[in-house]
Amino acid sequence: MKIPTVKLSNGIEMPQIGYGVYQVTPEECERCVLDALETGYRMIDTAQAYHNEQQVGKAIAKSGVKREDIFVVTKMWMSQYSLGQKSIDESLRKLGTDYVDLMILHQPFCDRYSGYRALEEAYKAGKVRAIGVSNHFADHFIDLASNVEIPPMVNQMETHVFNQQEQLRGFEKEFGCAHMAWSPMAEGRNGFFTNPVLSAIGAKYGKSVAQVGLRYLLQNDVIIIPKSTHKERMQQNLDILDFSLSDEDMKSIRALDTRQSLFFDHHDGEVSKMFMGWRGLV
Ligand code: NAP
Repeated sequence: MKIPTVKLSNGIEMPQIGYGVYQVTPEECERCVLDALETGYRMIDTAQAYHNEQQVGKAIAKSGVKREDIFVVTKMWMSQYSLGQKSIDESLRKLGTDYVDLMILHQPFCDRYSGYRALEEAYKAGKVRAIGVSNHFADHFIDLASNVEIPPMVNQMETHVFNQQEQLRGFEKEFGCAHMAWSPMAEGRNGFFTNPVLSAIGAKYGKSVAQVGLRYLLQNDVIIIPKSTHKERMQQNLDILDFSLSDEDMKSIRALDTRQSLFFDHHDGEVSKMFMGWRGLV
């Protein structure tokens, strides 16, 4: 079945389902991306900080799928923001391509305006077909989107049934920005894969918990990038186009939203603590 697309604010079509390679080791990454492409995925989400752009590029080259049929997403790490084009060119080199389809700022820290202006320049030069951000909470997002020439076309955020980001999605819409979910299955946290609500709904359609949770995001116009190193699960996570959740199902799943992160607590300063940790990587 054809993967649906989302039209970004500049008119380009982005596949609504992709394959993410965070925590896929460089040793495994080439095989995983080849498996994903063979399974039917046509969007790959990587990042400078994942240290596997090179393996993603190798897999794309080996796959036999035409470059223009694959939507490649990468992220500029915050230590690179002030390096501008040099950093973007390095990603292109590692990915073995002369353009990426979407490049986003990975974090809302450091010299993010320099990083974003570099993305704008690269966009104008045709090195990237779309630009955006990641981990930009409402305050960061609105500030940046209001003060740049080209508002972000995508914001990639932690989004799953337990943290549905409804309010942020509303703000993004105001700027014509699409919402992309990272950890769309909550990385299995909070008992995601055995959740009784998702499980009961899945039983009605002969679908797994993972499929119900992913389908829910799809029906909310969210772009998803489930990750698995297992080909059978890659297949399962893509096999969500032949059923539809009813209004009642959607309502039950909406009620699972706690509006809390399962990864950090923004308001208790966990993000700041995380940043302090990252400084070691900068
Ligand atoms: P996820 O996709 O929600 O969950 C991945 C976990 O679920 C893995 O442990 C995987 O195990 C397991 N899994 C996958 N499919 C399954 C299935 N059908 N049944 C049971 N278990 C299944 O979490 P994620 O990898 O953190 O997020 C996905 C992508 O989002 C990443 O790869 C990355 O591209 C992106 N991301 C971005 C950011 C950011 O800061 N922008 C942060 C985190 C993630 P196996 O691999 O063993 O199958």
